[in-house]
Amino acid sequence: QPVCECNSCYGGRHCSEFLGAGCAANAVSGDPIFLEPYWMKHAASSAVLVSGWHRMSYTYSDGSYISQVLEKHIRKLHAHVGNAITDGRYIIFGVGSTQLLNAAVHALSPHTSSEPPAKVIASAPFYASYRTQTEFFNAVDYKFAGDTSLWKNNTSDNTTKFIEFVTSPNNPDGKLNKAILHGPNVKAIYDHAYYWPHFTAIPAPADEDVMLFTISKLTGHAGSRFGWAVIKDEAVYQRMLEYVQVSTKGVPRETQLRALKLLNAVLEEGEAKEIFKFAYKTMRNRWERLNSTLSMSKRFSLQKIAPQFCSFFQKIRVPSPAYAWLKCERQEDKDCYSVLKAANIDGSAGGNFSAEDRYVRLSLIKSQDDFEILLDKFTKLLDEENGAR
Ligand code: PMP
Repeated sequence: QPVCECNSCYGGRHCSEFLGAGCAANAVSGDPIFLEPYWMKHAASSAVLVSGWHRMSYTYSDGSYISQVLEKHIRKLHAHVGNAITDGRYIIFGVGSTQLLNAAVHALSPHTSSEPPAKVIASAPFYASYRTQTEFFNAVDYKFAGDTSLWKNNTSDNTTKFIEFVTSPNNPDGKLNKAILHGPNVKAIYDHAYYWPHFTAIPAPADEDVMLFTISKLTGHAGSRFGWAVIKDEAVYQRMLEYVQVSTKGVPRETQLRALKLLNAVLEEGEAKEIFKFAYKTMRNRWERLNSTLSMSKRFSLQKIAPQFCSFFQKIRVPSPAYAWLKCERQEDKDCYSVLKAANIDGSAGGNFSAEDRYVRLSLIKSQDDFEILLDKFTKLLDEENGAR
């Protein structure tokens, strides 16, 4: 077992064995290790020690599965950042926001056998779990029905309910998406996993009926499996709560304790400014460097994101997305994933996001080493393109 997180070019127990010049740049997963240096600097204030006797019960002393203190911290953080309205809203916790994706679909679906199943939709390119989960659970109350654009003119049939996943900012392309379908039969689930100043300007606090957040992309603790939903309607809240209680009896108390400690550390440091400054600076720097490297290319292009006013930083900020959504421009490069793979760059093919394979998603939120290797491979690729060797 390695004692540290090795990057893709080093292995062994101490990550000291070079795997060779042919090693691949791994930009596949959305593992937010870029925040590890921040937590190394805040090791003491974020540490948790759990004694053997602590929190053994299924429930907290009020009989619930939810820590009230943690809930208060979450509301306070949203108020500080100004990225979501939580006053008068219900909050529930999930085992990552992954659990809450399906809890929300369940809660918004019809529950009488006389109604047709709800159609679950999303706009390509979209995060694959919306489709894979919905299909995997294979429920009678809802079915995955593909791209939102297919149903744009089709909502007049008022017996069918639509559940639209809206990812804002979007994974993979970082766009601040809005719901496309509207009407009495349409419900939206706003996935705000990346709606933090690390990755996007915050133009205004989000105030949607169902909003999902996760600690994975906020503090970087993807392994703790902690997410939350902010919900307006009491009936929807009750149904999501039931889902979480029936499937897992809530989120582990250890996870809630760790999340509390982390949010506490975030809020203590300069009223939550420190982590956002660090994360924004890191992501902005990566984006600028990748952009300037690829600006020399006619073969590859990146998504365009305009600078925008951020109410959190109180200034216009330049883009700092979590992912590069790279396009292979040459006619013959239809399989962009393989083009990059041949240059030892491992990304995620456009097809995984229900988009063309002319696109590839590259994760920019991994370790600094991973990013440097990625940039190095692109530099070599561009030297070849521009005949430098
Ligand atoms: N939504 C989006 C858009 C994501 O990118 C991810 C993680 N990659 C999730 C939800 C799930 O996050 P988690 O289960 O770790 O909270």
